[in-house]
Amino acid sequence: MRVATKVWGTLLLLFGIIDYVALGLSPVFIILTTARVVLSAFIFGYGYLLLSKPHLATAGHSTMALQIGGFGFFYLIYFLRPEIAAFTVAVIGLLFISMFVFVPNRLPYSAIAALLGLAGTLLSMIVNDRPAGVVIGAFFLLMLPILVGFFATQRLQIVQRQQYAMFTRANEANVELQAEIERRRVLEQELKRQATTDPLTGLFNRRQYEMLFDRECERSKRNGSRLSLCVADIDFFKRVNDEYGHDAGDQVLKHVADLLGNALRQSDIIGRFGGEEFILLLPDTGLADAEVVINRLRQKLEAAPLSIAGHQIGVTATFGLTEVCKDDHTIEDVIRRADKALYEGKTGGRNRVVPVPC
Ligand code: GH3
Ligand code: MG
Ligand code: MG
Repeated sequence: MRVATKVWGTLLLLFGIIDYVALGLSPVFIILTTARVVLSAFIFGYGYLLLSKPHLATAGHSTMALQIGGFGFFYLIYFLRPEIAAFTVAVIGLLFISMFVFVPNRLPYSAIAALLGLAGTLLSMIVNDRPAGVVIGAFFLLMLPILVGFFATQRLQIVQRQQYAMFTRANEANVELQAEIERRRVLEQELKRQATTDPLTGLFNRRQYEMLFDRECERSKRNGSRLSLCVADIDFFKRVNDEYGHDAGDQVLKHVADLLGNALRQSDIIGRFGGEEFILLLPDTGLADAEVVINRLRQKLEAAPLSIAGHQIGVTATFGLTEVCKDDHTIEDVIRRADKALYEGKTGGRNRVVPVPC
């Protein structure tokens, strides 16, 4: 609508040049020019107003008022320049079509404006004593652009509405598709989590652990960095189950898992290998450093008893620690050595860290 007002107002002013060529600086020219300036000021002003009040255009009444005002101007030309009356009527016919096609307004409002424009034109002709035949001829001549403009625009609007409906449906389908993709992504993540972690503690399960172990081994070989592995087994865990029940045992397992997760570095990899055995992989750590780390961990666990149903349950664990060596081919080779150390720890009194070198 704002583009239409700019084009409309500009053309209105430009046609003043034709007036000037025909009339010179005569009083008629001055009246016409004043009318042109006033009307185009309204048109430009309306376009400017639409910046802050776009609903004026969508409501349609004010645009219709402007259209009627535009026709009013042509009656003035009709009376002031009777010598070009036929030309004026022809231009009004063109205006009808242009109005329907180029001024975006609700169709009934544009039709009302056009019919009022037609009535005004015919009235001007009657007042001007035009013969009845000429008036009737003008009626038919002007009805033609009104009908063409009305029905062409109606069809155009139907097509536009259908296009818009299709666009909206495609958009809705797209939104649904996006939501479905997101649902599947979350589901996939959940399935992956279930496939790779132990449901009780959230730690990596054996299968995933073996994969991560292989990756870390590759990395340490590439970097020439050291890699330590520790097997931890809760001491007298059977007693917890026997004395406090299986649920209490589960709580102890979760407690130990949380403590391991909080105490170790982000890059350390913790897994649960079934039962009450945990496995810890410490990248970039040699055996001596790993012993310090794991010993601190052992002390932390010892110092953090778990209270279940009013009972303080002290939890300790024994740790078998080793380093990944050149001759180790699989995780089993490393675990075997760590398990041996663990066994030594158990027989040696439990709650201790036993390191074995390569
Ligand atoms: P040790 O100090 O020699 O390691 O003694 P322990 O009692 O901890 O060792 P043992 O291997 O004899 O007992 C492990 C027990 O862990 C046996 C089993 O009932 C229990 N257990 C294994 N998995 C789970 C589990 O998921 N939840 C619970 N509550 N208990 C489990
Ligand atoms: Mg045990
Ligand atoms: Mg055990």
